[in-house]
Formats: sequence, structure tokens, C-alpha cells
Amino acid sequence: MGVTLTTAEIVYCYHWRTSHPKSDMRQIVTKTGKRWRCQQSLDAIKSSKKEREAFGKKVTEANKQDARKTHRLTLGIKT
Ligand SMILES: [Zn+2]
Repeated sequence: MGVTLTTAEIVYCYHWRTSHPKSDMRQIVTKTGKRWRCQQSLDAIKSSKKEREAFGKKVTEANKQDARKTHRLTLGIKT
């Protein structure tokens, strides 16, 4: 019946709810313990984080411009 993959070679991925070869997986430590995540899911997190940061920057910039416009810059609140 051919080659049987053992559990040592296949790891369950919490991100995709499926299993990947262990070589594609990275073990990360979370609050609830060690988890295996595949490289793809880690990349997905990274890119979504980048998008969020870009969005945050836009909001900060908008706030700054608003503050400049209305001359409401308060001492001690510097970004
Ligand atoms: Zn995965």
C-alpha cells in the first residue's frame, strides 16, 4: 500500500484546519501553549498586519491634519 506518512511528518494546522507536511510548519508559542502553524498562515498574518498598520497610519495622519486645521494641538500629546 505504498508509503505511510506518520504523525511525525504530518502536522495539523490550526489556521487551515488541515494537515501539512512538517517541513511547511513552524512551531509558535501562544498563551495557550505551543501550536503548529504553516508558513502560509504566518505570511497571511504578516500581510494583514501590514494592512492594518497602513490603515492606522492613515488615521493618525488624518488626526494630525485635523489637529493642525483646528489648532487643537495639545502639549504632551506627541506621536
Ligand atoms: Zn496551514
